[in-house]
Amino acid sequence: MPATKKLPGQTAPYVKVALPLPVTNLFTYEVPQELASEIFVGRRVEVPFGRRLATGIVVELAQESDFERTKPVRAVMETYLSGALLELVRWMASYYGCSLGEAAQAALPPSMRRASRERKFEGLFRAIPPDGGRDALRSKLRAAPRQLALAERLLDSGGTVGAETVIGEWGFAVTHIKALLDKGVAERCEATSPSPLDDLETSVAELTADQRRALDAIEGALASERFSSCLLHGVTGSGKTEVYLRAAAWVLSRGGACIVLVPEISLLPQAVARYRRVFGERMAVMHSRLTGTERFDIWDRAERGECRLVLGPRSAVFSPVKDLRLIVVDEEQDDSYKQDDKPRYHARNAALMRGKLEKLTVVLGSATPSAESLRHALEERYVYLSLPTRVGGGSLPAISLVDLKKEPLEAAFCSSYLVERLEKSVRDGHQSILFLNKRGHSRFIQCNACGWTARCKNCDIALIYHRVANRMKCHYCGYTKSTVAKCEKCGSARLFFSGAGTQRVELDLAALLPGVGILRMDADTTAGKEGHRRVLEQFSTGRYPILIGTQMVSKGHHFPNVSLVGVLYAEESLNYPDFRSAERTFQQLLQVAGRAGRGGSDAEVVVQTFTPDHYVFKYLREHDYSGFMREELAVRRELRYPPFSRIVLASFSSVRKDVLSAAVQKWTDEVRRMSARWGVEVLGPAAPPVERVKNRYREHVLIKGPLTSAAKNEFLAAYRRLVEGGGGGGAIELRWDVDPESFG
Ligand code: ADP
Ligand code: ZN
Ligand code: ZN
Repeated sequence: MPATKKLPGQTAPYVKVALPLPVTNLFTYEVPQELASEIFVGRRVEVPFGRRLATGIVVELAQESDFERTKPVRAVMETYLSGALLELVRWMASYYGCSLGEAAQAALPPSMRRASRERKFEGLFRAIPPDGGRDALRSKLRAAPRQLALAERLLDSGGTVGAETVIGEWGFAVTHIKALLDKGVAERCEATSPSPLDDLETSVAELTADQRRALDAIEGALASERFSSCLLHGVTGSGKTEVYLRAAAWVLSRGGACIVLVPEISLLPQAVARYRRVFGERMAVMHSRLTGTERFDIWDRAERGECRLVLGPRSAVFSPVKDLRLIVVDEEQDDSYKQDDKPRYHARNAALMRGKLEKLTVVLGSATPSAESLRHALEERYVYLSLPTRVGGGSLPAISLVDLKKEPLEAAFCSSYLVERLEKSVRDGHQSILFLNKRGHSRFIQCNACGWTARCKNCDIALIYHRVANRMKCHYCGYTKSTVAKCEKCGSARLFFSGAGTQRVELDLAALLPGVGILRMDADTTAGKEGHRRVLEQFSTGRYPILIGTQMVSKGHHFPNVSLVGVLYAEESLNYPDFRSAERTFQQLLQVAGRAGRGGSDAEVVVQTFTPDHYVFKYLREHDYSGFMREELAVRRELRYPPFSRIVLASFSSVRKDVLSAAVQKWTDEVRRMSARWGVEVLGPAAPPVERVKNRYREHVLIKGPLTSAAKNEFLAAYRRLVEGGGGGGAIELRWDVDPESFG
């Protein structure tokens, strides 16, 4: 690894700085004498830019400046990129097509000055379990909701928690801790540092043979100290988390450190508590709703070597943890690992690239690995590790299909069969989850009699209905046709335009099952820092027999009492215009099925669909991931979609429709002329499902094929020529998305 901090005698009069702007050039600044000793490659600095100040990264030391007058660096910031992280950022910029400064921006927290870390209230705390249980605690602290929240959180964590976590990560104040100490609800404890391995032994007595095999392989990879990637494929409840915990404990007990990526931390309070029990103060939890100061604090603790395990969402992949040895990417198939804004990186790819640069072991884990990762495993670029059964032999729930062509909906978007199962579950004192997938605003057309949907003849993707023009459009290739009035397969006029909301289901269900407690979990009910947690906690009390939700409900929870999962309308995701829609539907339904029957009782998953013959369901019923993927990969190979090609989605926008169309056409023509040389296919321009966003018109062009960096650079250069060449090109904007996960 290249040395990062400045070596003696390595001073230079000038530095070249990458600024977070969409330009490829670097900016030269003079190094003032008093800052010289603190400036090195990777350091974040504050510099004058035009009439304002900007922060950027020093990427080169220079002996001379090309300019006669060069402005000086204004200040040195606390944060910096190590040599390896700077390399990672360089790769990100070139692969995802953004500037070095833009990529660096994503890898660092906002810079703070040490002064902001003044409040020093230290120590370790533990909740004293209340005599009368949680209810007693709640009545005791009724008048102090924040204190109650803290007390419950301490209880949940099941161990000792440090002041830094309580204040920095959980957002409580010193006064809240002091109040709990005064009231005898919490106590201070001694700082002890037992081996994390001891804590593990007490929680799970013995690993299963499969877990043992997987852990041995991971430890072997770690011991080799070379780059190695493993795919841990384990059905829900098969003990993957236990394997991650032990691999991490192994690393920590040998002086190393880890990063564990999870899709959305607020959906995983139970998993976080398990990590907390084992790693206590040696870990930090990041989540997407941290403030800048909180992010900086974690960065700082990691950089100083205090924090040895960082658990967090995609941006945690850039944590500067010292002696990093292992990166775990849990639920690697989850599309939240892809960042929507610049730089549009995928954290799984970033983890693998960081692994290569720093010779780490990277473990990708999933119950339903992505087609991309599975292909790598099949071709033996990843070590494939499998946990095929649930721990303790818990059986997987039975999956029944309801054919909505034959069994129309009775009420609340439920068929009579589902209503009957719901009523039974309520009667038996069990809990149920109803799942309604919702992605974007797209509308597709489906026949209510036979399940036929209008699809593009070129792309095998559902056509999107546009009310304004009364036409159906393919937003991959631009194919359009006028809206049909009758089903093209059976002639029925009972056409259905998709779209039902969770709120509506809740209302209807309340009317159908009066007196039954219903919880709803969607974007509306989970606002705020503690939103998800609140809903999950309410459901875990058992007082609400039914939880209705969007895809949020499908993720990692563990509710032993859930015996029924209903999927109201599987087409909602199956017909989403995305080449991954079958894969996503399969993954999501298998995942949501994994929520049922974890307590060991007989459980059922009821999937309502118009197309029970779709291959997704054939394999879903058997929980047959391999069978599904075999067929899915064959389809992808045939149509040359990833993982058998790469895709770039070029999304253009402008307030002026005519300017946009002309410029995009010009660019597309040019790219098409170059396409043969690079062996790529150019689809479009086409209108996206939502044609106008915030008053800007949009057009999409999709490039598909073996997209090398050289090819991508040429296409981007063509865009730059267009913008700089005048003729209205300057009024358009390009959103360049490499390996897109979303086509909205
Ligand atoms: P996954 O991450 O694959 O969903 P977990 O690691 O969360 O699975 O394990 C599921 C449940 O089984 C957890 O409650 C965990 O404590 C328990 N568990 C895991 N491994 C074992 C084991 N070897 N013996 C007993 N219980 C286990
Ligand atoms: Zn029909
Ligand atoms: Zn098409």
